Amino acid sequence: MISNVISEKCRDACVAKLIRERKKLEGLTGKLAVELNSLKQRKDEFDKDSGEFYQEGKRIQCRRDSAFARLKKVNIRIDVLEKGTFSRICPGCRENIKAAELRQNPLRDLCVKCQEHKNKNTNNMRR
Ligand SMILES: [Zn+2]
Repeated sequence: MISNVISEKCRDACVAKLIRERKKLEGLTGKLAVELNSLKQRKDEFDKDSGEFYQEGKRIQCRRDSAFARLKKVNIRIDVLEKGTFSRICPGCRENIKAAELRQNPLRDLCVKCQEHKNKNTNNMRR
């Protein structure tokens, strides 16, 4: 029987990579908060009718939201990995996600094959 539990070595590598990513994301959200603040202080410099101020604010807010969303995902994944409750069964094909694939992207939910298939379908839908 194949185990769906990842090896300790793989788990440690994934957690280490995720912790680095968390640090980077925390830096990014901090930087974007500063950007947002300095934008607000420069509000008067913008032409009121152009909508530029709001567009710029929205752009920063959007990046901040997605950084927070990713940060949340990273934290959840670290938690699950550390508790040892992470299952590496791919929901797409019910096969184990390979350790190398996980190490490459510890946030992965699907195996490479299913992920590529999913990306192709999403791209087709966008067209
Ligand atoms: Zn799969």
